[in-house]
Amino acid sequence: MATARFWRENPSRYNLKAVRCNNCGRVFFPPRGVCSVCHRKSIGKMECLNLKGEGEVFSFTVVHEAPSQFEILKPYMVVMVKMDEGVMLTSQLINSDPKDVKIGMRVKATLRRLGEDGPSGVIYYGYKFRPIEG
Ligand SMILES: [Zn+2]
Repeated sequence: MATARFWRENPSRYNLKAVRCNNCGRVFFPPRGVCSVCHRKSIGKMECLNLKGEGEVFSFTVVHEAPSQFEILKPYMVVMVKMDEGVMLTSQLINSDPKDVKIGMRVKATLRRLGEDGPSGVIYYGYKFRPIEG
């Protein structure tokens, strides 16, 4: 991801800040100013919302051939998670074995180091998912 976009979206990445359109009820993450469905009708009706960070696995894949910066992690799992608020998030699944991952499994977002820009560069943090025990 481009650095500029990453930093622009950073507060929402750290805090899982989303918005809900009070015209149609859709939730957007990262937040946007206008609903992509209602357009003009959503103006003044977008409400901030903190995602609770929990949801269930909608789909997942195991990455065996990783981009160079993630080489050290492979194989690793990427999950699409349907959050309890209804929005879909994609990130890495940690603390889990590929054979244990199931569609519908409950997971929670957790703040983790994502990577850095070069040897002396900026360190990125963001959310990853981990299974909710029990
Ligand atoms: Zn809407």
